[in-house]
Amino acid sequence: MSQQAKEHGIKVGVIGAGGRMGRMLIEAVQDNLQTTLNAAIERQGSSLVGADAGEVAAIGRLDVQIVDDLEAVISDIDVLIDFSLPDATEQNMQICAANNVAMVIGTTGFNEQQEKVLKEASKQIAIIYAGNYSTGVNLSLKLLGMAAKAFGTDADVEVIEAHHKHKIDAPSGTAYMMAEAVAEARGQNLKDVAVYGREGQTGAREAGTIGIHAIRGGEIIGDHTVMFIADGEVVEITHRARARMTFAAGAVRAATWVIKQEVGQYNMQDVLGLND
Ligand code: NAP
Repeated sequence: MSQQAKEHGIKVGVIGAGGRMGRMLIEAVQDNLQTTLNAAIERQGSSLVGADAGEVAAIGRLDVQIVDDLEAVISDIDVLIDFSLPDATEQNMQICAANNVAMVIGTTGFNEQQEKVLKEASKQIAIIYAGNYSTGVNLSLKLLGMAAKAFGTDADVEVIEAHHKHKIDAPSGTAYMMAEAVAEARGQNLKDVAVYGREGQTGAREAGTIGIHAIRGGEIIGDHTVMFIADGEVVEITHRARARMTFAAGAVRAATWVIKQEVGQYNMQDVLGLND
């Protein structure tokens, strides 16, 4: 579909337009019949500023120039999709809140201060914040809650994730979400029971803890396995992302949903109706 034919669609801005996810998001916005790309933003000093967003995403010219200032284009968009860096997303949340623009946030690795900014911003605008936008992962979260309830603390739970060598945070946002789904279903606080990696004289495994482990290498897009290790049997729930487009298409679907919501913070399970 041409850009002109979609000019009345939901107007989307993409942050981190030249990134691995940013390029996919541009393609996904273009592919979705309800959305149109109205702004593409990169960091100040990026060599991509001034380039055509469609050409950067290798989908052909879209006549949307990449800019380095969100505030300069904020009035042109209904919703901002941000898969960039925590510091950048922190600033973007404040700009969107001040301008009444909804957000879909995929950036992972927020610190406590950034979590606070998210909470404050979601008092002014509708924000979806999810460590993973794939349908399969969100379905897996539901299944994990069921398994955790069925096993209780009779099963030892270990979360193992693997990602490409370029990833700068660990464990992944999805691994946290999976561990949290288990902890919540068992009535635990993840902070109290999480054990990150193991080394040296660790002592015996403490019942009720949740082990979390990160593997990094090559170009793995994102694999997650949660093991429920009980006496005499093991259940494993595994999700393997095969293409970044699954996250990008999910985020664009989330963008079409969030613009119809009241002010507040939502997640991808809300978008998929898995919380109903
Ligand atoms: P990436 O390739 O490094 O992309 C990040 C992009 O953001 C880069 O193009 C970067 O530009 C740009 N950027 C940095 N600071 C900026 C600023 N102030 N304003 C605008 N753009 C800025 O990383 P990625 O693999 O796409 O991942 C991005 C984030 O999404 C990570 O936090 C990752 O964990 C997360 N992620 C989430 C999901 C999900 O489903 N929730 C899925 C995949 C990835 P430079 O390279 O020039 O610095």
